[in-house]
Amino acid sequence: MKRRIDAMTTANPPSCARCGGEALLWVRVPHGWPNAGGATVQGRTGVVLCATCDVDAPGAAALITWFHVHGQVEEEDSEEFVRLLVAWAEQVSVPPLDEQRLETEIDMWRRGNL
Ligand SMILES: [Zn+2]
Repeated sequence: MKRRIDAMTTANPPSCARCGGEALLWVRVPHGWPNAGGATVQGRTGVVLCATCDVDAPGAAALITWFHVHGQVEEEDSEEFVRLLVAWAEQVSVPPLDEQRLETEIDMWRRGNL
């Protein structure tokens, strides 16, 4: 299944939830799961790339190295960057826990707590 990936390379990426350090970038990846009726529910979940925590993640090392070399994304680098980004993002695993959290957030939102 091909996933569409939105890359968020803002000047202020969110900090890494695991180590509290500054994340290199933030992507939002589609996240689908079958609901009770068997239909696929589509959602999106945010994933950060952390130079410390994601060193061993599949596809992440090349992307982290790219940031070490280039520092930031420039127009002329974008082709290689996107290739590395996609290679990493396609292998990003979305923990099943996120589904639960998403539903909790929806519940909170419905109750007006968000
Ligand atoms: Zn981290």
